Amino acid sequence: MRLYPSGSQEFRPAAFITHIRHDALVIQTFGEPPRILSGKQQISSGLLSYTDYAVFSLVNLYELCFCGDPRWWKLYNFNSNHVRVEFGNISIYSLRGFGLDPLQLEPFFDFLASFGIRYAGLSTMAMSVVKRSLDRPLLLQEEYESGFPIGPQAPLAGLRRGLPGVYDGLCLMDIPVAFPSAMAQPFPTTLRPGGLWWYEHGLARASISIDETGRLLPYDAGKRIGVWSFAELRALEDAGYSVKLLETWQGTGVQDPLAAWFDVVLALRALPGQAGKLGKVVSNQTWGLFCSRPNARYTRTTFSGDGTPFIEVLKHSYNPGSAYFGALIAGNVRAKLIREGLRSGAMFCETDSVILPFCTLNGWKQKGEISRLEMPSARTYRYKCMRGVREHWAIDGCVDCAGDRWHYVAQGALGGSVEAEGAFRREYDVLGWGGMGEGVSAGRVATSVDAEDWGFGVKPREAAAAEGVW
Ligand SMILES: [Zn+2]
Repeated sequence: MRLYPSGSQEFRPAAFITHIRHDALVIQTFGEPPRILSGKQQISSGLLSYTDYAVFSLVNLYELCFCGDPRWWKLYNFNSNHVRVEFGNISIYSLRGFGLDPLQLEPFFDFLASFGIRYAGLSTMAMSVVKRSLDRPLLLQEEYESGFPIGPQAPLAGLRRGLPGVYDGLCLMDIPVAFPSAMAQPFPTTLRPGGLWWYEHGLARASISIDETGRLLPYDAGKRIGVWSFAELRALEDAGYSVKLLETWQGTGVQDPLAAWFDVVLALRALPGQAGKLGKVVSNQTWGLFCSRPNARYTRTTFSGDGTPFIEVLKHSYNPGSAYFGALIAGNVRAKLIREGLRSGAMFCETDSVILPFCTLNGWKQKGEISRLEMPSARTYRYKCMRGVREHWAIDGCVDCAGDRWHYVAQGALGGSVEAEGAFRREYDVLGWGGMGEGVSAGRVATSVDAEDWGFGVKPREAAAAEGVW
């Protein structure tokens, strides 16, 4: 992948679809009152008057396809995320999950305009921010003579591990801005096959092994073979694993070309309200742009007049030569988690956060306090927080976890959702823990502690499969 510094891009205004019905939609721009387009004729001619705009949808793109006439719309999905819809020659980008009031998002769009970024889909804008902050061309490449590059074979997933049990007096800590700050560090711009050495930078196929210890381990006890970054292998060795290198790829040409980009990321994340949330999502998605995988699924859905969908699989851009960079960043975040987070009696970790007995971790941020944690497995847990105690309310916990209520968290479900509670309940019952706590409350939606940084509840694993098209 070769990225060139870009100059200021040509401005085009933004328009937002805020509400839809099958026969009407509401579209709004900054500085003008909302426009209601009702009836097929008005919807179609009205939308076509936004040809010179970047059009965003604050509502579900799939539902948008049933507005007016389903035959008008083409829906593009990347790894089952709705990415954009085409209406004639207008692209409509998804901005779902950021409220329904465009004015809340205005600081984000103003910031991008002042930085010379043309409004477009989120991953396109994420890549534009990178290019706009480069001061020289950036070439990321893996050199491989034959066979396959190693980058796409290295794991991207964050570590989700847990020691099942019931605990009291804990805190949830996380690494602030984990992925962007790892990207801002010096990294190798070239990867090539190496000898059996422990290089400063690069990847290795290795075997790791450890005996059962009773503490929270990043990988199961016993022996396993895989591909890791040297940073992670060093952290594993320090954590007690024995590591044997089998094959290596050396990283060279070490630079920190994304240091200036990181300053822009911090400014985007500091924007108020929904604009800051959008800034976080865009900056977190940037890592996913370097995580290209051949098995990603890119599709176009069209509809017949009665709404029957037809799905067509499309080719997608695939950059195997830069995939090592995404893998190195994932490895560096896991290394920091293992080295700093899992060394302190932690009983749960997820990508860039840990739950552990009250303590401070240098450079980490406390995201919450937990008076009681019940964790039947690493997949799910529930807890009571300490907001009521800290803020001198006359209740334990908060309104979402007082009395017989709890905060529910489950893998793949939005924190506090009915799905999270159901997943917890199933595992809890299997263990026969039912007599321990109280009846489960009707599904209450609370603020998730760990989905918060990922606007759509998207975790790095899924973020890796971000739009990928620009
Ligand atoms: Zn609470």
